[in-house]
Amino acid sequence: MTFDSFIGNRKVIERLRAKLQQDRFPHGLIFSGPEGVGKHTCALMIAKALNCTRAAAGSFCGECSSCRKIDSGTHPDVMTLSVEEEASQIKIAQVRQLLGMLDLQPFEGRNKVFIIDPADLLNAEAANALLKGLEEPPENSFFILVTVNVHELLLTVRSRCQVYNFTPLTLEEIRRHGVTDELVVRWSQGSIGRARNLDVTRLKSERELLVGFLETVVAASEEQFQELLGVSADLGRSKQDFEGRMTILSVLMADILYLKEGLPEKIVNIDLHDRLLKFAAAVPVDRLIGMSEFLRFTEASLKHYVNRQMLADVLALMTNETTSNWL
Ligand SMILES: [Zn+2]
Repeated sequence: MTFDSFIGNRKVIERLRAKLQQDRFPHGLIFSGPEGVGKHTCALMIAKALNCTRAAAGSFCGECSSCRKIDSGTHPDVMTLSVEEEASQIKIAQVRQLLGMLDLQPFEGRNKVFIIDPADLLNAEAANALLKGLEEPPENSFFILVTVNVHELLLTVRSRCQVYNFTPLTLEEIRRHGVTDELVVRWSQGSIGRARNLDVTRLKSERELLVGFLETVVAASEEQFQELLGVSADLGRSKQDFEGRMTILSVLMADILYLKEGLPEKIVNIDLHDRLLKFAAAVPVDRLIGMSEFLRFTEASLKHYVNRQMLADVLALMTNETTSNWL
């Protein structure tokens, strides 16, 4: 891969390239943005450009021994700091090891590049230790901190780095990555990583459960309701499943609202167009909006303690015509 063949986030790439060509490359960079849009790939491209033995300044060949070693993770001057196996954070010992390399000359390249990914998982001690390196880095040392959210990093760390914001890819850019299944393209949410890891069979079966849930709830009479709360008990069984299902539900609800607004081209679940359209026709718009807001609240509360059963029950109550007036 070269800078030219990098798909998406072209402005970020061009800005970085210009900096590399000016030979005044910043020593501290933060790459912030959603998972799976190429932040780590881009960090490696920078490491290659700073060490390539063949290409002109600001570029890399991808073929010399330096470029190949960086690709395979064996270049002694390019170090990626990540969460070690069975740990939940990046530890201070790892940062100390990195700082120990700072004053050494590069082993075989021109520059040392330290990639910290995900930088939001540096624990407080480790982040504070890293500050030392960021404050006065040697001429030939560069730090690239990769994170989904720059605001998760200490202000003192942020203030010593230039921030580059990566955005989700467009549907067209996801297709250019070679993704051909239109459902996968639309479910990727602009993340090529997500598109590649998506288990479509599982997604479809989970989605079926949820569309079925919505269809049953909306049509249920008061007498059937007891039974329906049994359905929502199924929805809430395990935390991981529940989170995944709430995400699917949010996307379904957004699709239903798009259909209600007459914007069918915007929907993600294109294969369910007709069924979702029926649902959209059966439910008044204010109830749909209430449900969507509730789902957003649910997603936010999942980060903290939450009673999954209760949330699933409230959702069932909101979807049902008879009971939605109680709330
Ligand atoms: Zn090269």
